[in-house]
Amino acid sequence: MALNTTKSQEIYDRARKIIPGAVMSNFRKDEDYRPTYISHGKGARLYDMDGNEYFDYLLSFGPAILGHSNEHLRKTIKDTADQYLTNNSTELEIQAAAKVAAHLPSAELVRFACSGTDAVYNTMRAARGYTGRNMVVRFNGHYNGGLDEIMGGIVTDMKNPIPVDGELEADIYSQVTNTDGRSRHAFADCYMIEWNDLPALENLFSRNGEDIAAVLMEPVMVNMSGCLPEPGYLEGVRELCDSYGVVLIFDEVLTGFRMGLGGAQSHFGVTPDLTCLAKAIGGGFPVSSFCGKREIMDCLTRTDVVAGGTYNGHPISMAAVIATIEELEKDDGVAFKQIEKSGNALKKGMEDLAARYGHPFLIQGFPGAWNFLFTPKEKVINHKDSLEQPGLLKALEFTSLIKKQGVLAFWRFCTSAAHTEKDIEDTLERVENAFKKMK
Ligand code: PMP
Repeated sequence: MALNTTKSQEIYDRARKIIPGAVMSNFRKDEDYRPTYISHGKGARLYDMDGNEYFDYLLSFGPAILGHSNEHLRKTIKDTADQYLTNNSTELEIQAAAKVAAHLPSAELVRFACSGTDAVYNTMRAARGYTGRNMVVRFNGHYNGGLDEIMGGIVTDMKNPIPVDGELEADIYSQVTNTDGRSRHAFADCYMIEWNDLPALENLFSRNGEDIAAVLMEPVMVNMSGCLPEPGYLEGVRELCDSYGVVLIFDEVLTGFRMGLGGAQSHFGVTPDLTCLAKAIGGGFPVSSFCGKREIMDCLTRTDVVAGGTYNGHPISMAAVIATIEELEKDDGVAFKQIEKSGNALKKGMEDLAARYGHPFLIQGFPGAWNFLFTPKEKVINHKDSLEQPGLLKALEFTSLIKKQGVLAFWRFCTSAAHTEKDIEDTLERVENAFKKMK
């Protein structure tokens, strides 16, 4: 199947003249360094400006949990736009906050913001304000937004795991998150260690615990390799944080409202102190939330900790949150049953195809979002572990091949409530063509 890209190329040529790199986010460049210009979407499908049809598993990097053009979401947004043209405080904020709190165990008090990065910096500030401490522990291979102190870096001294600028040859992740222009001391306030390694955290706490404000993690490594927490790991982190008085932050920007309405924290039964949400929470609209324990969030109530944002709680965003959660709640959670069914069917189909065409292939994650790795390993538990296999370039080649067959994904497949069994069958036919072409 050859895609016609005449119009996309023409748009790209125009875009390059006015938009740096022709994209609004560096991460939106695909393997050809040319975005796919979308004209419209319906259900599991997207159509580009040349009329090519794609099965979409990118889902705008996660948010489109209801698929494209969901009727209830569309109608709610239209009605809300007719009613409110700007953002002042509205009752919608309370309704949206109550909906989040009803499902997320950690959400005693809820604020809204605009992006995942907003949510992350606000939780870190709240944690630092609440504890009066400075250092944040983060994890190699986790993506927690674009902040100077949080994005990228490499650790060269394991005894003092403070990241430094740089990238490693075999580590694509360190390369894409390495940036010029970072403030000189940005990394000084964080430690970066490997995830799923409890002794590493214990060791760090025992040496520096008195100045550690927070541990910030993705509870499933949805951005890289789809690693799941090892049995007992999250519980162990929770216990360590409790005994050292450290605030535990789950960055559920990807897992929240994608791994079920209660997020990873409900799934694994471990409640963090603070949670970051974005992406699926607004079904595709620019909205995020930071929420958590009353005792900590009350730093904002007292204005000891300041958290502002002109567009925080915008009525359109609030309407998007309410409508998305309403859809996910409907008929006893039928949306998640569908996500699970289609995600699992796609996973099984891809594993079978990989085996048939002789590719070492590993899928990790959960039905609504899983990553694929070209590796003979049976399991990868953290970023260091993932680097012990050279399959990342192969994954990029595969991404490029499936796109040419009309399937959009990037290291990761996300499914939505709109993906049907027939969509999965048709997708697998296209994926088979890609496997056939792979070296
Ligand atoms: N945290 C996680 C886990 C993410 O996946 C992302 C975005 N990919 C962010 C934070 C940052 O979100 P945003 O791009 O909305 O700032």
